[in-house]
Amino acid sequence: MTAPRFRSDAPEIHRPYTAADDRYGRFEYRQVGASGLYLPPISLGLWWNFGDNVPFDQQRAVLRHSFDNGITHFDLANNYGPPYGSAETNFGRMMREDFGRYRDELVISSKAGWDMWPGPYGDLGSRKYILASAEQSLTRMSVDYVDIFYSHRVDPVTPIEETIGALHQLVQQGKALYVGISSYSAERTAIAAAVAHSMGTPLIIHQPAYSILNRWIEDGLTGVLRQEQMAAIAFTPLAQGLLTGKYLGDGRGQRSQKRASLPEKPLSHSTIAALRSLNTIAKERGQTLAQMAIQWVLREPTVCSALIGASSIEQIDENLAALDGPAFDIDELERIDALAEGIDVDIWAQSSKL
Ligand code: NAP
Repeated sequence: MTAPRFRSDAPEIHRPYTAADDRYGRFEYRQVGASGLYLPPISLGLWWNFGDNVPFDQQRAVLRHSFDNGITHFDLANNYGPPYGSAETNFGRMMREDFGRYRDELVISSKAGWDMWPGPYGDLGSRKYILASAEQSLTRMSVDYVDIFYSHRVDPVTPIEETIGALHQLVQQGKALYVGISSYSAERTAIAAAVAHSMGTPLIIHQPAYSILNRWIEDGLTGVLRQEQMAAIAFTPLAQGLLTGKYLGDGRGQRSQKRASLPEKPLSHSTIAALRSLNTIAKERGQTLAQMAIQWVLREPTVCSALIGASSIEQIDENLAALDGPAFDIDELERIDALAEGIDVDIWAQSSKL
């Protein structure tokens, strides 16, 4: 592990950035389906902790440290912030000031599909929304193209040919190198993949929620992904922080920011007890709970990367060490399954039913 050179409170953070020489070699990059693209087993998402409510130097320290340790993939979306758009704008500043010379070593993704601007043209999956939003994202991020552009969610009304056609158009325009979908059901994924294939622009990647506490992809989606030669990048592998050390005390969590999607109340006693038992299994394996949770999603063969969030370089370090953990044995997996069943929080239960 490269020692952190860029803590947000150290003077080095204000010096020009040169990436660590030894940033590659710590882990193998994983092929994205049948495509020529490879991703790090751990990717960093900028949904939280990169908006205008977080000091820029803190964001910069986390991104510099991530890249210094081989994390080449940063995942964004039009509405990450708060406010909406600000994560892309802050990332754009880092592209100009820090990462510009490393553009070809980075995989940058963005998305459109959730609400972004008012009126009928700033939400869901119309060609009008997707093309306009992608253009705005490129401007905010100070890049000419993204490596991956996603339809962020299913639009139940717009014809799938229109949504996928807009992704295809972005590729033809050179504004996206690859395209994918997020939170589409198994059935819709198969249809979207067929439509994309007929247009000559394969969907290479699906971004679903997946964690010890949310296994919906195992109920059909992984089979479709295998069939379509697509990969999954698993978002929220730590269940937004539930599967870390944060909730093992009184169940209230010590969060960097209040997350509207997490329960406001302390977790139930039975959930806290189950999380502590999961933590015991992790300890027996010589890991933290966060490390075990990341390694658990990566054991699924269709998952090419675990897409984590992080508010500090310490979290990045802890999470990267997940890659050094021992393989799971059957007994551990069965104990994890049994404990997960007793946990009554599933934050993304509704996100993947269409
Ligand atoms: P997560 O990895 O499940 O949770 C990340 C949070 O867990 C961090 O912000 C941090 O909370 C805490 N954490 C991380 N490592 C920790 C550690 N070692 N010890 C203690 N706490 C730790 O993922 P997420 O942030 O919910 O989502 C990750 C990314 O997935 C997003 O940024 C986004 O790119 C993507 N995503 C996509 C969709 C979609 O619809 N496609 C939806 C959601 C997310 P604190 O910040 O409180 O410290």
